Amino acid sequence: MTTRTTSLPDTAPSPAPMRHVRNVIDGEPVDGVRTFAKHSPIDGALLADVHEAGRHEVDRAVASARAALEGPWGRMPVGERATVLRRVADAIERRFDDLVAAEVADTGKPEALARDLDVARAAANFRSAADIISTAALDSYLTELPDGRRALNYAVRKPLGVVAVIVPWNLPLLLLTWKLAPALASGNTVVVKPSEETPSSATLLAEILLEAGVPAGVMNVVHGFGAGSAGEFLTTHPGVDGVTFTGESSTGSAIMRAVAPRVRPVSFELGGKNAAVVFADADLDAAIAGLARSTYLNTGQVCLCTERIYVERPVFDDVAAGLAEQAARLRLGRPENPATTTGPLISQQHRQKVLSYFDLARQEGANVLIGGGIPTMGDGLDGGSWIEPTLLTGLDNTHRTMREEIFGPVAALIAFDTEAEAIALANDTDYGLAAVTWTRDLSRGHRVAQRMRVGMSWVNTWYLRDLRSPFGGMGLSGIGREGGHHSLEFYSEPTNVCVAL
Ligand code: NAD
Repeated sequence: MTTRTTSLPDTAPSPAPMRHVRNVIDGEPVDGVRTFAKHSPIDGALLADVHEAGRHEVDRAVASARAALEGPWGRMPVGERATVLRRVADAIERRFDDLVAAEVADTGKPEALARDLDVARAAANFRSAADIISTAALDSYLTELPDGRRALNYAVRKPLGVVAVIVPWNLPLLLLTWKLAPALASGNTVVVKPSEETPSSATLLAEILLEAGVPAGVMNVVHGFGAGSAGEFLTTHPGVDGVTFTGESSTGSAIMRAVAPRVRPVSFELGGKNAAVVFADADLDAAIAGLARSTYLNTGQVCLCTERIYVERPVFDDVAAGLAEQAARLRLGRPENPATTTGPLISQQHRQKVLSYFDLARQEGANVLIGGGIPTMGDGLDGGSWIEPTLLTGLDNTHRTMREEIFGPVAALIAFDTEAEAIALANDTDYGLAAVTWTRDLSRGHRVAQRMRVGMSWVNTWYLRDLRSPFGGMGLSGIGREGGHHSLEFYSEPTNVCVAL
């Protein structure tokens, strides 16, 4: 059965485009060596010319960050820095609509999602980092050795230094501020490289930081691509003290190689092939609604999204039918329309990749319960990178469709018979980012959640975040944890002081 997803009529024009997006170095807009075009995922229209940073611009950005680190910012007392970060949160809220417009134009995501998730979280990330640095403690020990010597040991926190912050396009501002706020809280200065697909909100944020009183050079922004462009120039730069990166696992691997000769620390939040497990005792209505959210939010372009769904056999048909029905109810359309639930994929190139997985799934013997292709949108939207929310059955864990990250609005359902089998199936992956367990049995919920080989294991919910809790992945999904004091561990270098008493 293939059901067409309804598209909404053209109700409003696209948000005002940003025409020229420049690098931001030492607080000033800076031209690049050339420009590249950014197109709207909504209708394919040209949105902006983006200035690509060359080696020289990256050198200037790193030098500016170094000077700011050695200036007042690096020496600012923690309490004062926390106050500045809270001012940034306030400034983000003052420029809320501008940030929403920038994010929506670049990604095509529904405006309501950009408001409720992306931009709201940007302000929250700064407030959370300010709170955490204000109360952060480090070790101190009164040491008494068997030979009678006594000493006071205590650690002091220092910034890691000039940090390269490289982020993807799916939640551009949210993921940038998730790194930027704790990096600045810890006294670092940064050079940010946003995705080539989403240059706008990072550029606007650099302006907002200046307005909030963050000194020039603390946050620099360079635009461009990875290999042979700003990304590579930054990760191989001798003036960069560490790299924090969110993106594909294969890019993480390239960045690791780039920093290896200089032995720089990395923090990686990478891809996922996340499982959900539905037991027959689950509240099925809640589970189906939760699965619809975890599969299709942001058009499946969230690293935490579910792509593998294991369902206990007695309820398999009910869950498959229920989820297909939810997928059919999604409304694709313009971001400004309040009824829109689902935007396009980020680009034609990414759509090509997702479609290639739909083809692969068919070759591997999948049944397509819903979707599986390109919707007809009409109303001038067919130049955009729209795709149908899709649901598959008939595959098993040996198929490539079940092993590789697709990063689109698609999941495949597989039946299981026992709890042990469900855990084994969920953990049968090279990734290890997130998992969800749906059950009414509380003991089972805890038991299964703890045995999931992932960084984040939810029970009867998904993507419910406490910003103080650890976030990150195992295996191909990343290195290290961010969130709360876990972020401070990456962004600071403790020095232990030992004083003989
Ligand atoms: P990507 O790896 O293609 O690009 C991410 C960033 O890295 C971009 O800014 C890009 O220009 C840059 N880059 C690419 N090659 C580089 C290189 N050789 N050197 C330096 N920089 C380079 O990822 P994407 O397609 O933008 O984002 C989607 C991916 O991000 C998915 O795999 C998704 O799972 C992952 N992701 C993970 C998390 C998480 O928290 N674990 C969150 C969001 C997205």
